[in-house]
Amino acid sequence: MAAINLKDIVKRYPDGFLAVKGVSLDIRDGEFVILVGPSGCGKSTLLRMIVGLEDISDGELRIGDAVVNDKAPRDRHLAMVFQNYALYPHLTVFENIAFPLRLQRGQFSEDEITAKVERAAKTLELQDHLQRKPANLSGGQRQRVAMGRAIVRDANAFLFDEPLSNLDAKLRGQMRTEIARMQRRLGTTTVYVTHDQTEAMTLGDRVAVLSKGELQQVASPRGLYEQP
Ligand code: ADP
Ligand code: ADP
Repeated sequence: MAAINLKDIVKRYPDGFLAVKGVSLDIRDGEFVILVGPSGCGKSTLLRMIVGLEDISDGELRIGDAVVNDKAPRDRHLAMVFQNYALYPHLTVFENIAFPLRLQRGQFSEDEITAKVERAAKTLELQDHLQRKPANLSGGQRQRVAMGRAIVRDANAFLFDEPLSNLDAKLRGQMRTEIARMQRRLGTTTVYVTHDQTEAMTLGDRVAVLSKGELQQVASPRGLYEQP
């Protein structure tokens, strides 16, 4: 777990388009920050720069004590949870969670993998479902498997990119509750991108409102309404 500090972050795409125009934001260790704004305002660009999938044109990005502008995604130790949870349907819950560890070929023994997966599963209350396949899980359980895959690698932070946007309203409501509960339980620094006002107002400690590549406001969900 770590704090994430953005200082005057700029993104200019190769065609010259200025998608992020100097964003500064200090995310505390363990804090849950929602990044909200209309489609095209630069949310994904900002998240992709944090995770390292997109170059930063200008400014400074720190994770913990280190400036990471030039670090590869793998060295930032961030766990991105994507829109469709990208679970492997033919693998059990155990193997889905173990997958990132197996990718790092030879780094972990079978005993270590088992210990890490079981610990993650316990944290996420999945210990009774380890031998099941994703198709036999509820939406909330699948979400937790995706998070298990993220935490098994000891991530500094979770990054969510509109994780609920493909779901129907009922499931979305359940998942909101689930995500908020898990984040409180894990206490992991979280940046959560959405264009959904309800998610913005109910999930996080603070809401950062982005418009046309600039931060308009950063406030607690309640504070957003109280400000003029
Ligand atoms: P959001 O996630 O808020 O919908 P994005 O970060 O995806 O917004 O996009 C922000 C702006 O940057 C948009 O106007 C988009 O068209 C533009 N953009 C995104 N990717 C590229 C790219 N590769 N080249 C040029 N412009 C881009
Ligand atoms: P590899 O290159 O190890 O075969 P990938 O191309 O999937 O595997 O991932 C490259 C690096 O990107 C990984 O070592 C990991 O640190 C990081 N990475 C992979 N998936 C994620 C994710 N969901 N969120 C954040 N970082 C990831």
